[in-house]
Amino acid sequence: MSHGKIDLKGLTLDQLQQLLVDLGKETYRAKQIMRWIYQRGVTDFEQMTDLGKDFRQKLAERACISSWQPEAVEESRDGTKKYLFRLTDGESVEAVRIPMDEGRATLCISTQVGCAMQCQFCLTGSFGLTRNLRPEEIVNQVCGVMADGPIGNIVLMGMGEPLHNLENVVAALKILYLDDGLGFGSRRVTLSTSGLVPEMKRLWEQVKVNLAISLNATTDEVRDRLMPINKKYPLAQLMAACREYPLGPRQRITFEYILIRGVNDSLADAKRLVKLLHGIRGKVNLIPFNEHAGSEFKCPDEATIRAFQSYLLDRQIVAIRRASKGQDISAACGQLKGKLDKLTE
Ligand code: SAH
Ligand code: SF4
Repeated sequence: MSHGKIDLKGLTLDQLQQLLVDLGKETYRAKQIMRWIYQRGVTDFEQMTDLGKDFRQKLAERACISSWQPEAVEESRDGTKKYLFRLTDGESVEAVRIPMDEGRATLCISTQVGCAMQCQFCLTGSFGLTRNLRPEEIVNQVCGVMADGPIGNIVLMGMGEPLHNLENVVAALKILYLDDGLGFGSRRVTLSTSGLVPEMKRLWEQVKVNLAISLNATTDEVRDRLMPINKKYPLAQLMAACREYPLGPRQRITFEYILIRGVNDSLADAKRLVKLLHGIRGKVNLIPFNEHAGSEFKCPDEATIRAFQSYLLDRQIVAIRRASKGQDISAACGQLKGKLDKLTE
């Protein structure tokens, strides 16, 4: 919002239709406006030539359309790019574009400035939460990066805990999915959570999305220590919620598992992981811990990582090893920290 005007970038179709009703206009015009905004990148109502002059003026009095350009872009040796966006209140957020096969890319976006969850291994978490992002601030990360080329998939795995900002994240997903807007299919979007169980249910009641769980441990004792949220929603509750998650055909839940030397990387852990996943249509993403100055944890050696992965594969569990890209520009998992860069460098 700026000058007290409603930012159309933050409105779902229903909300835009309601605004039109308030202005005494037909609701079908919402789709017309969405096409101008998302498919043609128009930010000035005057350019919406299929709307009458009076209508354009009325809209301009009540509403605005924000549009973002990155303040800084860093490119990694492996082609990964990190975008820094400045927010109107001076805060900043980061999004990361990871090139995939055939010119497509995966975009990793943020949902909060900072994060309140305090996971022990995560740099973002060590700074605490500054504030939630509004729907338009989530959507604008996508629009602001798309100028650089097509985006195949979106992952909500940047800064923040998406389910700790549930309402705004749900609105942003609905906007990203709009047929007359960006038209992302829900199967191309993945939301990653540290495991806020009640919010998981509220999420699937409202919107479809691929689910990823940051699991990272196989006992409550270790998970309590790594991820304080586990004290509130222990493993049994988390896994029960995963069993209830309504999966579409051929859809799976992704379990992210950061391998940390001497903490969660033993074969006993692998064995417990197999048990935990019993009866869940899931796959495991193994992420070797990204070492950073803010943490004493270390990455396991290569042989340990291989043994862990093999144990899972031998038991018919899909276990992919996720390469952490963009390490040289601090764009890798858990390294995003926005404006805090300046404080710590
Ligand atoms: N808050 C959500 C959204 C993504 S957080 C969540 O926790 O799921 C960022 C992701 O980076 C998580 O998957 C987390 O497990 C991972 N991560 C955090 N610190 C990391 C580190 N040091 N090395 C590797 N992955 C890390
Ligand atoms: Fe927050 Fe996710 Fe980092 Fe945990 S891993 S502190 S939930 S961003």
